[in-house]
Amino acid sequence: MLLHAQSAPVIVPNMAYSIFSLLRNGLRGQQNWPQAWRSPPPQRDYRIIIIGAGGHGLATAYYLAKEHGITDVAVLEKGWLGGGNTGRNTTIVRSNYMLKPNALFYELAMKLWEGLSQDLNYNVMFSQRGVLNLAHTPGQLEAFAQRGNAMRLNDIDAKILNRQQVMERVPNMDYSASARYPIAGGLLQPRGGTARHDAVAWGYARAADARGVDIIQNCEVTGIRREGGRVTGVETSQGFIGAQKIGIAVAGNSGRLAAMADLRLPIESHLLQAMVTEPVKPCMDTVVTSGATHLYISQTGHGEVLMGGDLDFYTSYAQRGNLPRIERVVQAAVSLFPFISRLRLMRTWGGVMDMSMDGSPIIGPLPVPGLFMNGGWCYGGFKATPGSGWCFAWTLAKDEPHPLNAEFTLDRFQRGYVIDEKGAGADPKLH
Ligand SMILES: Cc1cc2nc3c(=O)[nH]c(=O)nc-3n(C[C@H](O)[C@H](O)[C@H](O)COP(=O)(O)OP(=O)(O)OC[C@H]3O[C@@H](n4cnc5c(N)ncnc54)[C@H](O)[C@@H]3O)c2cc1C
Repeated sequence: MLLHAQSAPVIVPNMAYSIFSLLRNGLRGQQNWPQAWRSPPPQRDYRIIIIGAGGHGLATAYYLAKEHGITDVAVLEKGWLGGGNTGRNTTIVRSNYMLKPNALFYELAMKLWEGLSQDLNYNVMFSQRGVLNLAHTPGQLEAFAQRGNAMRLNDIDAKILNRQQVMERVPNMDYSASARYPIAGGLLQPRGGTARHDAVAWGYARAADARGVDIIQNCEVTGIRREGGRVTGVETSQGFIGAQKIGIAVAGNSGRLAAMADLRLPIESHLLQAMVTEPVKPCMDTVVTSGATHLYISQTGHGEVLMGGDLDFYTSYAQRGNLPRIERVVQAAVSLFPFISRLRLMRTWGGVMDMSMDGSPIIGPLPVPGLFMNGGWCYGGFKATPGSGWCFAWTLAKDEPHPLNAEFTLDRFQRGYVIDEKGAGADPKLH
């Protein structure tokens, strides 16, 4: 399938992917697939410009077109679409939050995930294999019971597993008496799981493009132009492009973009790494996380064991990692799953994380008329993608947040109404 179109001026409205088109194109040697999206030159101006063609920017453009009928939209991307954190994450999707604003917001995303492949006519490989948070002490299990109950009160699925039930579900962990991290039980969200991250970017891009949105790659925004205080457009590596409204969705670069409008955000940019082993036969059918070791681990569709851990704990815009963090993640993985010691590590990579002061995102207007942002995703913005795009589209279309993102606006820091799920305080790297 041809996914990266260099020049294709036409919109192909009826290019539905189906069993029939698969068969037809298979029989014709895969030569006749239409381009998945166009690569048009930028127009002089747009009603709305979204900066950043990650999952959030693309989802926003798609829902602007689909839900609000606004198609005079461009998504500007400095590199290639999906090349930021969207294509770098460990693909975990869940809505297992305790605080109400988080629970309701991430559950909207979960419901959208559940129909996303059909909605986009693109297989995002959403796999509801369950996300299990391990409890290593009875006290931790008690805290999980509290969170599980809060989830259920918000109509979100949650199940407490005792040690025996965890053993049955994930048999290949170290349950011996000498285990470095004893396992007391866990909190399971059965509807949680994984999705293929780059398919999410490609699916949204294709669906937004089919509705008339222009996606412009290799177009770096270098300035935000204002007149009389209000935004009028952006300076880019392809020249000035006018806009009535601008939505920033650039994850780890949020601070840089906001600075172009003379704003300083309560966000720090940190590095987060992930890594995969060589592929092996299916051996892990649940996503497992351990807060004590800060490890999250699952098996990809290719068979690789995919692992992530903590931030590097120093601020940086470099998208590459270092050995001490890799060592720490691998140590935790081998302690919990001894068989991993026999696998080779194949690849590691890093992404720049937009860590906010309370660990929750910022989705809403900024104090410059016409300027909006979607960022501050910390460790967990991939799972939010459909819900965040949906709410950000609403906010851009109506100039006000939807009730589901009303709690996530920037002014909460002024009002002191922070959403600190972890209770870690105002230290971004701890969220
Ligand atoms: C290693 C790692 C593991 C993670 N694991 C998970 C996980 O398991 N589950 C989960 O929910 N989340 C996870 N995340 C977080 C998640 O990946 C992000 O929160 C989410 O993908 C952010 O999406 P986005 O669209 O906002 O940003 P991005 O995908 O980063 O897109 C932003 C885009 O903006 C572009 N851009 C930046 N500056 C400019 C500019 N000046 N002009 C034009 N374009 C610009 C960038 O090139 C980029 O493509 C992880 C992140 C990392 C790095």
